[in-house]
Parts: sequence; C-alpha cells; structure tokens
Amino acid sequence: MSFESFNLHPQILAGVQAQAYTAPTPIQAQTVPAGLAGRDILGLAQTGTGKTAAFALPILQRLMKGPRGRVRALIVAPTRELAEQIRDTFVALGKKTGLRCATVYGGVSIVPQIRALRGQAEIVVACPGRLLDHIGQGTIDLKAVEVLVLDEADRMFDMGFLPDIRKILQHLPTQRQTMLFSATMPEDIRQLATDILKDPVTAEIEFAAPAKTVSHALYPVLQARKTELLMQLLQHTDTESVLIFTRTKHRAKKLSEHLHNAGYKAVALQGNMAQNARQAAMNGFRNGHYKIMVATDIAARGIDVTQISHVINYDIPDTADAYTHRIGRTGRAAKTGDAFTLVTQEDAEMVRDIEMAIGKRIERRTWPGFDPVKIELPSSANRRPAARSAQPQRNKPQAARPYGQRSAQARPNQAQPANTPKATPSKAQAKPTSDKSRPVVQNGGKPNNPYLEAARKARQARRARRVQSNNTTSPA
Ligand code: AMP
Repeated sequence: MSFESFNLHPQILAGVQAQAYTAPTPIQAQTVPAGLAGRDILGLAQTGTGKTAAFALPILQRLMKGPRGRVRALIVAPTRELAEQIRDTFVALGKKTGLRCATVYGGVSIVPQIRALRGQAEIVVACPGRLLDHIGQGTIDLKAVEVLVLDEADRMFDMGFLPDIRKILQHLPTQRQTMLFSATMPEDIRQLATDILKDPVTAEIEFAAPAKTVSHALYPVLQARKTELLMQLLQHTDTESVLIFTRTKHRAKKLSEHLHNAGYKAVALQGNMAQNARQAAMNGFRNGHYKIMVATDIAARGIDVTQISHVINYDIPDTADAYTHRIGRTGRAAKTGDAFTLVTQEDAEMVRDIEMAIGKRIERRTWPGFDPVKIELPSSANRRPAARSAQPQRNKPQAARPYGQRSAQARPNQAQPANTPKATPSKAQAKPTSDKSRPVVQNGGKPNNPYLEAARKARQARRARRVQSNNTTSPA
C-alpha cells in the first residue's frame, strides 16, 4: 500500500512527502481508508506506531472542503507534550493546506489560547482540564465540530480524566466522526468506546518489535544506595542516550541535578517545569545535547526520541502496563536496548506483577560492592510467572513501536536520591547491547487469579488517589 493509493488532496500528499514517509505504517494502512470514508475508528495502538498521522490525514482531507475559521476537528490528549506533538504532526502534514491548528492545555496563560480560538483554528488539540475551562468561559465554540479524536484514551483514564471526557462529550454535536486510540483496552475504555463509537472499524497493532531488541535486568538494591548504584551503572555501561524514570517530580529534579553536578549532560523533564523549559529539555535530549533525561512517567508521555539506548527505572513503575510503556522507549527500529530496573525489597509485589505480565522471570544482577538484596514475596504469595504466559490476555496487546514512544502517576514520595560520591561520566557512546529476546505482552491473566485481583484492586486504589490529586494539581 502506498500513500498515493489513499487519494489524498495533493496539498496533503505534499506534506506526507515532505516528511519523507515512504509507505503507510500498519496502523495507517488499516485506518486511513476508513477514516477518509468518514467511519468511526477504534485504534489499538500506541505512540510510535504512526497513529497520529493515521487520524491526521483523514482530518486534513475532510477539512480541505467546507468552511474555515471555525473549530471542525477536536483532538483530546492526556498531556501537553503529546498535544504539542500532535499539533506538530498536523502542522507538518498540513503545511500546504492553510489549515490552522491550535493547542489548548493548562500550565500556560489562557490568553493566547483564547486569541487562537477566535476564528483562527480549524483544528484544536486539547488536554481535558483546560478545554473544560474554555468551555466554561465560553471561549471555545464546539458547535461546528465534525471530527473528535480521543488519543491515548487509556492514559486519560489512568490520569482520572474520564469524567472530564464525558463532560466534554456533552458539548459536542452528536453527528460527528469519532476516533478513539488506546494502547490497552481496560473495561472503562471499552465501555466508553461502546458508548461513543458508531459501527467502528477496529484496527489493532500487535505487539512486536521491542521484544526482540530489549533486554531486561533487575538490580536489587537498598533504597539508600540507589543513586550510588545508578552512578556505577552509568559509569561502567556504554550508553548512547539514557532515559531514567523516577516516581515523583521532586525525585526527577533532584536526581538530574545530582547527575549534572557529577558531570553528566543530564536534564529533568517533570511537571513542575515551565512549558518552555520542558520544550528546551525535550529538544536538547532529542538532538543529543543531553545524554540523560530524568523524567516522571506522565511528563515523559509523548517523548519521541528514537535513539534511546537505555531505559533505567530508578523507581519501579506502579503498574506492569507502565513498565512495558517505559521499556518500549528503547530498542526501537530494530536497535537494541537495555532496560535496567533498580528494585528494593518493597518492590517485590510489583516485580511479580511485571514478570507475570511479561511471562517470564527477569534476570537479577548484583553489582560488585553491593550486598545482595532479596526481592521476594512470602512463598505463599508467589506464583510462577511462566504459568501466566499461557493464560488468556485480559487486555489488548501492546502495540509495536517501530517508528518513533509513555505512564502512570507518581506513587507517594519515597526517600530522596541519596547523596553519593561523585562519579566520572563515561563517554556516551553506543555499544552493541545484549540482544536477548524478551517478549512483552500486556498484563493478562485469569480474572479470578487472586494475585491479579489484588494487583487490580491496588491499581484501582492508586487510580482513585490520583483522581483526587488531579483535582488539585497539574497532571504531570
Ligand atoms: P506517532 O506514533 O504518531 O507518534 O509517530 C511516531 C513517529 O513515526 C513520528 O516521528 C512520525 O513522524 C513517524 N511516522 C509516522 N508515520 C510514518 C510513516 N508512514 N513512515 C515513517 N515514519 C512515520
């Protein structure tokens, strides 16, 4: 299949060619024709699969005809970074079309957004909270919306945005084309899809690429010695570009400062940073100026860097799903990648969940000079992970990331990164990394498995806490 076969408007095709896309990605091949025909779409794919263009192309094509100067397409996305990335795609593909795209998200002044919305944009990419502000203040008119896209719907659900989404839906015309994209299909999203999609075309991108190219390792360590161990790992591993995940914004900031003081080209990406500082950090990481980025899950949502050689979980994520998203940042496009996770005794339960989700045990590695730390649950709570791999999957499989990027909100604070002796930075060079195959599948399993049930309840409780904190703080 070629882009020509889509019969796109020449001005849109020119945008595709300017991006040097040679052939549609699988999600594009599966959804663009239906999108162009005006069908509703349910896309099971995540960032990195080319899904943005999969919905952008049909939208641009539709908007080439009909009135300008009013909001005709609305894309709702969980974070500012993702919203900006989506806008960039519209701008790049629609460069010759004269169509205009505005972004709407919190954490920045509302005034320029109001100006941009006054007859200046046909396409709006919005985060739910600020969009509702605009709706409340009457500064956005959604009566002319013909197409709605809900992007990364599972993340929006994770972040507690589902009630906001339902409120937004009440302000949109019921006659419209709706496309919903999600990496996984939790029950609430399935319900939302059933409620809002009419006879949708479903496209599912099977998980594939990272499994073959990413190797995983656990480094059991005492909480107080995490930073020390991290420095050792960085010092003795040849890395190209390293993405480090922490559980909280504060830890991301502290750790990046620590690395910076130790001589590394490191930068933080976390929700307390001003938008322009985030953008600068992202650009610097993308263009190689920074070799290390320390990020929280949510801030890192939308990071689109193909060169990440190592993902290091300074803090283990709080869901197995978040683990697969994190490690999916490395080993892309047939490159190899390593995923290191520093784990403490308290992480035993999550390690078990992750191993169950990926269907195998992850290698434990002990670093010289660090006493072995046991990462084990009481034997009664243990279940052989391999047993899970044969079980039916509860959620839909993860998408591959062959083309280009994920999240869970922070857990309550833990100890700050420990002060450690300064280390000499290694020269950031690419080294062939190990290439052990580690199939990663979405967390599945029998619903009646008591351990999974317990994990599910814990997730629900965390989600409820997040919803509460989202009411008072910005999402990332
Ligand atoms: P997305 O999943 O939309 O975030 O896209 C991930 C990356 O893939 C972005 O850098 C896109 O520019 C790139 N991309 C999208 N479609 C194609 C294509 N057909 N060929 C090559 N790269 C693409």
